Amino acid sequence: MCYNHDMKNYDIIIVGAGASGCLCALQSSKNNKKILLIDKLKTAGKKLMVTGNGRCNLTNLNIFPSEKYFNQNIDEYIKRYSPSLILEYFKKMGLICYADNENRVYPISNSAKSVIDILNNQLLKYNNITLALDTEFEAVEYINEKYEVKTNKGNFFCEKLVIASGGKTADNVAKKFGIQTKPFTPSLVSLKTQSTRTVENIRINPATIKLKVKGQNIEESGEVLFKDSGISGIVAFNISSFFARAGKFDGIINIDILPNFSEKEIFEILKRRKSLSLPINKMFDGIFLPAVGYLILNICKLDEDRTTDKLSDNEIKLIAKTIKNLTFEVKSCYSNNQVYSGGVLLSSLSKNLESKEQKNLYFCGEVCDVDGKCGGYNLQWAWTSGLIVGDAL
Ligand SMILES: Cc1cc2nc3c(=O)[nH]c(=O)nc-3n(C[C@H](O)[C@H](O)[C@H](O)COP(=O)(O)OP(=O)(O)OC[C@H]3O[C@@H](n4cnc5c(N)ncnc54)[C@H](O)[C@@H]3O)c2cc1C
Repeated sequence: MCYNHDMKNYDIIIVGAGASGCLCALQSSKNNKKILLIDKLKTAGKKLMVTGNGRCNLTNLNIFPSEKYFNQNIDEYIKRYSPSLILEYFKKMGLICYADNENRVYPISNSAKSVIDILNNQLLKYNNITLALDTEFEAVEYINEKYEVKTNKGNFFCEKLVIASGGKTADNVAKKFGIQTKPFTPSLVSLKTQSTRTVENIRINPATIKLKVKGQNIEESGEVLFKDSGISGIVAFNISSFFARAGKFDGIINIDILPNFSEKEIFEILKRRKSLSLPINKMFDGIFLPAVGYLILNICKLDEDRTTDKLSDNEIKLIAKTIKNLTFEVKSCYSNNQVYSGGVLLSSLSKNLESKEQKNLYFCGEVCDVDGKCGGYNLQWAWTSGLIVGDAL
């Protein structure tokens, strides 16, 4: 249905036609309520286009125990709309999906556009949903048990208001109604460290990043991609969420760039190359690109002009130790974050994600203090929470 400026009064207004807002609208529309779904962009679900490298990794079949994949245990929510129920939901709408060998689920077309198309087709099906695109939410007032929603296209009124705006927009609403939030911090983001320009754009796979958080050892393995001053790739993204949850990007990470070999095995491999009498960096041939070799030698403070036969056992031990333990100081993060950590605390919301402070005000998706790993977890939360709120409206 087209946006009609004369329509001012609604049962429900949903701010944000992203992943959570769309499912919330579809689910609540089943009660024949009059719904206004607003988004500042020109297409509902547009942000999904960039997800999963354009393929939209819409969920992950491996999700329990949820605290392994999210910042906290959200089993009670996920059980209400689990990955298999989400897939069933999308299947009914016409989207066919498959799971890869890491249980990440994608549309069979391998295109995020399929997900956007299916959601938009479905939104059009319901006459009681008015989609107001290119409409930016600006502020809200609560007067006589009604919400007055102020936008750049005029003011609208409703009994129940849902904030599904992702990222930071929710902060002002939460503050206005005295709802407790944790500061929004970029997460699933590349880590900024000392200069890594000499190895920029080099990928190492597998590598293991290690981090100590509150006395606990965290390890993530997979592909690491060096940037000009830092580290990217899924492993770095997942590690970034620990910094985000702590509220600051500041600390030491160690990278094992040969995790499938012990320090002793690496020592033996390198020692066998000693007799070749080659320039020292040639001892990494067949294992690392030369730039990575130079980085290791640099950290070990070993002169590149030496030859392998002049290396002592202790020096080879030091190289092996360094390969297992490259140290980087995380100083901040890049601006390519996929999600925000933080948001409205679940403890300030009911089981149906309604504010305990403010009647008929709901939050779903990324605006809640729920953030997950890479691999479909954040969208799973968006779908789950959107449906839970949709049921409650
Ligand atoms: C590059 C990238 C890749 C990603 N890949 C994946 C992936 O493969 N799998 C996965 O699980 N997660 C992925 N994510 C994360 C995932 O996209 C989010 O977790 C998810 O979209 C959150 O859903 P949401 O409904 O809460 O918010 P969003 O999808 O962000 O939707 C919020 C909507 O609100 C609108 N809005 C915001 N402010 C206003 C306002 N003031 N007025 C009106 N409208 C407003 C926005 O335009 C937007 O359409 C990725 C994120 C990025 C950035």
